[in-house]
Amino acid sequence: MRLIDTAYIDGAFVPVTGEEELQIINPANERTIGSLRVASREDARRAIAVAHRAQEGLAKTAKAERLDMLTSLQDAILRRSDDIRDVTIEEYGAPVSRARWISRYASDCFGYAAEALRDYDFERRIGDATVRMEPVGVSALIAPWNAVSGTICSKLASALAGGCATVIKPSELSGLQSQVVAEALHGAGLPAGTFNIVNGRGKDVGDELSTNPDVARISFTGSTATGKIIARAAAETIKRVGLSLSGKSATIIMEDADLATAVPMALDGGFQNNGQACIAGTRILVPADRLNDVYALVRPAMARLKVGLPSDPNTAIGPLASAAQYERIQRFIARGLEQGAKLLAGGLGKPYGLDTGFFVKPTVFAEVSNDMDIAREEIFGPVLSIIPFRDEEDAIRIANDSAYGLEAYVYSIDPHRARCVADRLHTGSVLINQIAPDLRAPFGGVKQSGIGREFGHFGLEAFLEAKSIAGHYTRV
Ligand code: NAD
Repeated sequence: MRLIDTAYIDGAFVPVTGEEELQIINPANERTIGSLRVASREDARRAIAVAHRAQEGLAKTAKAERLDMLTSLQDAILRRSDDIRDVTIEEYGAPVSRARWISRYASDCFGYAAEALRDYDFERRIGDATVRMEPVGVSALIAPWNAVSGTICSKLASALAGGCATVIKPSELSGLQSQVVAEALHGAGLPAGTFNIVNGRGKDVGDELSTNPDVARISFTGSTATGKIIARAAAETIKRVGLSLSGKSATIIMEDADLATAVPMALDGGFQNNGQACIAGTRILVPADRLNDVYALVRPAMARLKVGLPSDPNTAIGPLASAAQYERIQRFIARGLEQGAKLLAGGLGKPYGLDTGFFVKPTVFAEVSNDMDIAREEIFGPVLSIIPFRDEEDAIRIANDSAYGLEAYVYSIDPHRARCVADRLHTGSVLINQIAPDLRAPFGGVKQSGIGREFGHFGLEAFLEAKSIAGHYTRV
């Protein structure tokens, strides 16, 4: 049992002044493994004041100093990578392979940010003006529970590369993971105040970050609903706002695709991170005349998919992160059935033999039309919909018929054709015959999936503001 009752402010772990305590539950066995005393609005104010003080010095740091800081942070996270992996399994329920990936990503992202920074030109000539890219100022970094370690580290890496002091608000639903990451980052020995971590509720800590005039920028990852609240709150002080939001991504399996390869990859892309992934390809678009071939591959693949304890290396899908998530997924499966979708695999209730823990049956619906709720709303669990299309035009139309536009996947043996389809999809990224994105390329959404881009060069620029200086340097 661990009690987390501190925030990381001004280079030290200090007691929070909040009084609410949240139980931390292991989702695989429903046992209480710790508690988090949430930070208060007052704690957030202290952290903002400290970051504000640190900002001036940080803005003046040379590229080489920032590169050193990024290297120190990367090393510090690497030293705790086993702990980050283990706590991601214990608190979040990620299967071992996913937890290992998350832990690796949390350190790699500092290297990616350093790569972008090394090549970045902070000053250039445009016309008669000198254009200087300056730090935007104190930045609030707000993270969701489904990807907390990676989100904290990757946002911090870009902010620091840009010379911005930060206040980080992890999700209050990932207290243990955030604490291990905070301890690891502290080990980097950065100047006090450069980054601060305050874990509290959105309604007070999050709201303070969104409204406080000393915060210049918000980099938010989370749901579209919360993103809208933040954007409205931030408008009053005209903060710069980057929003990485919800998704309902389409996977298009083209007529010419090799189904034996494409179908298992489409399932993996839909079920990644126990289905709790913003980029999950949850609408699988299949040529109408190949539906039966696809079903014939999906059924045995689903029978082989191992749901179980996340600590078991053979497990592909662990428990969902919370009881609330379990209930949410049950409601969506019930709605899919009510609206006439047919079960190809899975369904309501818990998988056989897994009565304790927030386990759900990975579910694939057939005969789904794109106007059903299960095809329109982000379910955020392992529930996929197979939607038939007539031809390429129809596939593109269905894929684009969504309020969201985060990611899309295309499977085809013809690279030129796949690329033509990719060019017409309204999403922030498209992956062709692959599931893993390049984490140095820009990432973000269009439509209600967000505003702005993260990672690499684009992630760095999001923390910068252009200043034009033009003039005559002769005595006037
Ligand atoms: P959420 O929106 O409920 O919470 C995200 C964060 O916002 C949490 O830290 C929360 O405390 C905070 N928050 C809540 N109310 C707030 C307020 N009024 N002001 C400021 N902050 C507030 O999201 P979640 O349930 O934690 O995460 C799941 C969602 O995140 C899904 O919709 C998923 O698609 C999305 N997500 C998107 C990406 C991406 O990169 N696009 C990545 C991961 C998750």
